[in-house]
Amino acid sequence: MDSLLDNLAPETQLRRLPVLLPVALDQTYDYLLPADLAARPGDFVLVPFGPQTRIGVVWDQAVGDPGKPIDPRKMKTIAGVLDVPPLPPASLRFAEWTAKYTLAPLGMVVRMMMSATAAFEPAKPRFGVSIVHGAATPPRMTPARERALAIAADGLIRSKATLAEEAACTTGVINGLVASGNLVDVAIPEKIYPRPDPAASVTTFTDDQAIAVQALHAAVDGGNFSASLLDGVTGSGKTEVYFEAVARTLEKGHQALIMLPEIALTSQFLNRFHRRFGCQPVEWHSALSPPERGRAWRGVATGEARVVVGARSALYLPYTDLGVIVVDEEHDAGFKQDDRVHYQARDMAVVRANLGKFPIVLASATPSIESHVNARTGRYRHVHLPGRFSGTELPEITGIDLKKHPPEKGRWISPVLLSAITETLARGRQSLLFLNRRGYAPLTLCRSCGHRFECPQCTAWLVEHRFRHRLNCHHCGFSLPIPESCPKCGEAGSLVACGPGVERVAEEVAELFPDARRAILSSDLIPSLVEMREVIRSIEAGEADIIIGTQIVAKGHHFPDLDTVGIVDGDLGLAMGADPRAGERTFQLLHQVTGRAGRTFANGRGFVQTHLPDHPVMQAIISGDREAFLDHEISNRQRGMLPPYGRLAALVISARDKSLAEAFARDVARRAPAAERIEVLGPAEAPISIVRGRHRWRILVKAPREMDVQAYLRQWLDSLPPIKGDLRLQVDIDPYSFL
Ligand code: ADP
Ligand code: ZN
Repeated sequence: MDSLLDNLAPETQLRRLPVLLPVALDQTYDYLLPADLAARPGDFVLVPFGPQTRIGVVWDQAVGDPGKPIDPRKMKTIAGVLDVPPLPPASLRFAEWTAKYTLAPLGMVVRMMMSATAAFEPAKPRFGVSIVHGAATPPRMTPARERALAIAADGLIRSKATLAEEAACTTGVINGLVASGNLVDVAIPEKIYPRPDPAASVTTFTDDQAIAVQALHAAVDGGNFSASLLDGVTGSGKTEVYFEAVARTLEKGHQALIMLPEIALTSQFLNRFHRRFGCQPVEWHSALSPPERGRAWRGVATGEARVVVGARSALYLPYTDLGVIVVDEEHDAGFKQDDRVHYQARDMAVVRANLGKFPIVLASATPSIESHVNARTGRYRHVHLPGRFSGTELPEITGIDLKKHPPEKGRWISPVLLSAITETLARGRQSLLFLNRRGYAPLTLCRSCGHRFECPQCTAWLVEHRFRHRLNCHHCGFSLPIPESCPKCGEAGSLVACGPGVERVAEEVAELFPDARRAILSSDLIPSLVEMREVIRSIEAGEADIIIGTQIVAKGHHFPDLDTVGIVDGDLGLAMGADPRAGERTFQLLHQVTGRAGRTFANGRGFVQTHLPDHPVMQAIISGDREAFLDHEISNRQRGMLPPYGRLAALVISARDKSLAEAFARDVARRAPAAERIEVLGPAEAPISIVRGRHRWRILVKAPREMDVQAYLRQWLDSLPPIKGDLRLQVDIDPYSFL
């Protein structure tokens, strides 16, 4: 190939560069760089790709199967280099690592890294006007003109609309003043991100906290990779402590990333950051507008953004000089992305820290079993905060055996819980009722013919949402208005709601406590993060007496007046039969929710309604014996060769045609390469066998920890016939969903 190039006329002797395109391909393509263009690895370039021109990334080495050598005379040419900061080398390596680990095409990982379209569009300078000092008085002076000039006299740049509004005139008046030479059009300078100041405030730590701070300082000072598990009950000061790791990193001149589950990105958190560092951090989450995303992306890439606080995808921003990652609520299953690139952001954050040779801090009141095991084996430093900062004890937890203390018929709150709420209300303090189920009722049926409302496209019941008067499918979004009569037998007024959702519990609360102020926290009732922040603020400010919420109440909020927490259905998460993390997750959720109680005053109480009072999870929650639960759970995992003692991978096969899906799933399973110590389970019809009209089959792969399960899967996938037409095959390494 090179000899072919040598034979070309000198003017066509152009440099060849490997370019990666953000599409579902696992390889770079070579393009020629015209002599008048300069491009470095990481640069974003415009290249012809098929019939289109697309943005690609110059890679620093060829990736994937080069295929047949291309005659350089036919090779396509780079059409332009974008004026965008390049992807830093660390991002290239991280993309490769993620692709290799998740088996997602490298192009899809890079596409994820580019998920801020506005960053790649030419910056649109915004224009405004400012005064021209010393210009002659306009010939025709009107009161409106006078007002506008008086306001503009301060010399500031304002948009025409803003100046017109302030001067209570039309933009025509402003244009007239531009024409007369009294105002001039000027570009409004881009806002720049303020720099967080590590010395903006000083926190005085308790002795236990000071030891933890020292450990994290040492990790940052070590200037190398390390992982620390910051393990302490809710309210123990984990946030204050890890802020010190961020401060130390800033002092050393590096960037910092704090990752949180999306719904924990509250204004409360941002305000705390502001108090500690004197300004807001750069936010990254799904509620940002496209221009905000673009600005944040560029800010990270240029290094202007010093601290990013964001949801899981913040990990894939183009940091030039990242020096620490904090993953708060590290046990949260929301760090797993189950769409396109299936990655576990907490695990990938550890990889990123390792590649960048800097420390990572994983913080939680209920760390994952994986992280506990890593701490126990010494792979992670275990940094422990033993008690609450306020000195208050953790809430006393009472199990309510629903067989012994059943609620009244058609109600969901047992007499024991009822009297606790009554008593809390009388003391003027807050109660929280938790039920991890959106809507009014999970099932609607006809009293007359027994017809059950199911989703036409999924194997799932339709959930009644009474506020919106609709029946919704929680898997595909299908919805219909609640009918007046049964569509099957035609009987009018025969439909009954079965089981509770948060809306129904809220209705019960309204009937029982008509004078109490209620707040409902459920993602479908609150349209956006912004509104959500407002509801949370009002609860913090004591503007609600009884809060009814789904799992969004579990995350990181600090409700100072909250005394009593009631779990309406403690058994809900345990029914997830095939999920090896069901017990762990239920424990974490119940612990986190009950841990919201009594954080300021020593009046915290938790109540868990259950039909399974003897279940190990309930026992652990009620007795508060976390270590016993961990020992039990860890030995279960060890025995079952489950994570972290074994590796899991899922293959999900789907098609609209039922028999096509099944036949292909069986074919895939048959072709599994023989390997000692690797178990291939299935294919089995997925527990939710139809989603959006697609029939789904699952295969589960179990391998010992030390095996390269990716290599095994790659060999297997390479042996499959091409996946054509409507068939789909998804690979999910370390699955968190087994539905
Ligand atoms: P966690 O993250 O472990 O739940 P936080 O860091 O949120 O705990 O601390 C709980 C509460 O105690 C917060 O209001 C926090 O500001 C306060 N707090 C914790 N440690 C200190 C400290 N050393 N000085 C002042 N306030 C503290
Ligand atoms: Zn559906």
